[in-house]
Amino acid sequence: MRIDAHTRVVALLGYPVEHSLSPLIHNTAFGRQALNLIYVAHPVRPEDLPAAVDGLRALRFAGANVTIPHKQAVLDLADELSDQARAVGAVNTLVAKEGDGGRVSLYGDNTDVAGFLAPLRPYAERLHGAPMVILGAGGAARAVAYGLLTTYAPASLTIAARTLEKAERLAAEVRAFGAGVPEAVRLDRAGGALRESQLIVNTTPVGMHPHVDATPWEDPCAFSAGQIVYDLIYNPERTRLLAEAEREGATVLGGLDMLIGQAAAAYVQWTGREMPTEAVIEALRGR
Ligand code: NAP
Repeated sequence: MRIDAHTRVVALLGYPVEHSLSPLIHNTAFGRQALNLIYVAHPVRPEDLPAAVDGLRALRFAGANVTIPHKQAVLDLADELSDQARAVGAVNTLVAKEGDGGRVSLYGDNTDVAGFLAPLRPYAERLHGAPMVILGAGGAARAVAYGLLTTYAPASLTIAARTLEKAERLAAEVRAFGAGVPEAVRLDRAGGALRESQLIVNTTPVGMHPHVDATPWEDPCAFSAGQIVYDLIYNPERTRLLAEAEREGATVLGGLDMLIGQAAAAYVQWTGREMPTEAVIEALRGR
């Protein structure tokens, strides 16, 4: 890696950031394409976020990723927002643009939606107008609901969460995105919806390392051939949920492809190039 007077920086703003795989992903890709860019993770306390975003402009960073807990707060700090960022109510990518007089402005986008949808593309025919379930009602669930409602016009979309009020709030908020009426249920009452669904998406962290024996749905009888079960967790690559669903004949998708998809959708905006995903996957598997 070369660092000289022309090197530009891409930042990760989050709190904490030490667990992030984004530096490995982007520095691998920059290196493979011999781009004079470097990706650095910065732990930014919530009260320091406005100063950090101003710093991106002043120091002429090429852009940034934004992660927990800043994805919502940064909406008000960007100069311009994509339709997706506005609809999802969260920004995970900032792209620096140079305007008149060399002033840098920041364009805020949400690439989690594109990253989530990319692995589903081969199954598009099965998914159009199909019944679907989302487990969890947090930030990722909102991006998932937006992506599903605007892309596949599901016959039904059930949001199942342990806190019913959160599922109800999310269902009401995403109603505007699609023709169907999203429904909310408590997680332990989601059995019927799960059995009838073509697509089940886990957006809870249940089953994530180190709690790999946990699953958001204990009863594998809910799964069957013909279903797609998609777990956003990428560590481990194959969660207990996916292992049990696959045993029942379901098609399973893990979160690694989404992680790479959201990174690739940011990378192309910072660099104008397609991310070399093979090299990135190799680096992630070898870590
Ligand atoms: P979040 O905003 O904190 O939402 C998490 C959701 O899971 C909430 O609805 C929460 O319910 C629920 N939950 C947490 N613990 C639970 C438990 N023990 N039992 C049942 N429900 C539980 O987090 P997020 O940003 O949406 O992220 C969620 C997951 O998606 C994480 O594992 C994250 O790594 C993954 N993710 C992956 C990618 C990718 O690229 N693959 C991208 C984004 C996110 P309460 O509100 O009741 O606490």
